[in-house]
Amino acid sequence: MAEAPLEGGLRAAPPTPAGVRELPIAEEALIRQLARPGPRYTSYPTAPAWRTEGFGALQYAERLQQAERQGPAAPLSIYVHLPFCREMCRYCGCSVVVTGQSQKVDRYLDYLAREMDLVTARLPHRRRVDQLHLGGGTPTWLDVRQLERLWQLISARFTIVAGADLALEVDPRVTSPEQLALLHRCGFARVSMGVQDFTPEVQDAIGRQQSVELTEALYRAARALGYRTINFDLVYGLPRQRLETFALTLDQALRLRPDRLALFSYAHVPWMRPHQRAIDEAELPDAVHKVRLFELARGKLLTAGYVQVGMDHFALPSDALAQARLVHRLHRNFQGYITQPSGDTLAFGITAISDVQAAYAQNVKRIADYYRHLDAGELPIERGCALTADDLLRRDVIHGLMCNFVVDLEQLTRAHGVSPHHFAAEVAALSWAEEQGLMRRVGQTLEILPLGQLFVRNVAMAFDAYLPAQQARPTFSSTV
Ligand code: SF4
Repeated sequence: MAEAPLEGGLRAAPPTPAGVRELPIAEEALIRQLARPGPRYTSYPTAPAWRTEGFGALQYAERLQQAERQGPAAPLSIYVHLPFCREMCRYCGCSVVVTGQSQKVDRYLDYLAREMDLVTARLPHRRRVDQLHLGGGTPTWLDVRQLERLWQLISARFTIVAGADLALEVDPRVTSPEQLALLHRCGFARVSMGVQDFTPEVQDAIGRQQSVELTEALYRAARALGYRTINFDLVYGLPRQRLETFALTLDQALRLRPDRLALFSYAHVPWMRPHQRAIDEAELPDAVHKVRLFELARGKLLTAGYVQVGMDHFALPSDALAQARLVHRLHRNFQGYITQPSGDTLAFGITAISDVQAAYAQNVKRIADYYRHLDAGELPIERGCALTADDLLRRDVIHGLMCNFVVDLEQLTRAHGVSPHHFAAEVAALSWAEEQGLMRRVGQTLEILPLGQLFVRNVAMAFDAYLPAQQARPTFSSTV
């Protein structure tokens, strides 16, 4: 096939399967150069920069009081972390408690109520909630009675406004239509289903058996109940993943036409998640193969009519995320891409991260510590970070790049009251990205080009003031 000239002087992809849209592909040398440890930027500053000394329960309580002063009309977001799972999947990167004991969940709910009481005592007038997310772990490891109780805990303390965005993550292997029906009656309209890969040998390698039929049955049940937005989470970079079999997984997912698909890069970080040692590293795809898996998936999803949203999400054009992406109004929080900025986010449960009045506050990671703090009547904060003026500016730049693939540095520096030349060194240091066709600069506007969208973390890293000090020890997964 003749090479077609593309944006940035790239060559076109080699022959692709029939019906798959052609996109620029990354050269092997470039992939190997860019495959290095780097943050995912779900926050800035990233978690390794947060401190245990200097930010704890006292500082979080002060931020809550500041949040209260924003007035009763200002909406809140809520995240509830439900860490329980039936068994541990080998690739898992979440904070999980494996248990089959229902009474452990009941006890956790008791303590969630106590934590909510401690927080709401500082927010006597600020209770309106317009975003609520249940994550984990597996929220639907709670049975119907426990989910009902959780809903009562939340709705007795907060006012869920009409039209609020209520979402939850589910593991189709343990989720019943009855659970989904209950939550739909409570107002949940968005559900995210863990799929990863339908290929049996990949499922063997990651310790998670989940048939297409099982996922399809839950998908159809959610549709029949009236869930407005159904998302599938797929993962690329898993052991034994081949282009042919991943193509089949994508075809099986696309046949159901979910509203959204997330295409997460597997993060192999056994020094942080020791259970990942059960994965045979020899079976993991190398960086080049991993990028080819992503390129294959992106081509198939765009061909099927989905719009790319940020680095790794895709949505049907009618979906709110796709529409926000097209007008550069996409935002991001710890749970993923969103169409409205979250404002103050209160997070409950172990490891949960609140984002309140320009500060991050993370809860303790161990369930025993969580209970101990709450028994003592203390907010269970382990570490956090009060953002400086410079952090806030850099956060806007990084989030602009990660969400909308474009930032106007002139407009952002003006909005933050600093010199328009504030980022002269960072922009100069990104000349390699322009030369490689990943990015284009027009005046002070930086735009990530199609080839650069997979490598946007590498571009964002140029604006991370903490990174040089963090790179001395293993901290982050590979950017590729
Ligand atoms: S079900 Fe999800 S959260 Fe639970 S262990 Fe598996 S991947 Fe992790």
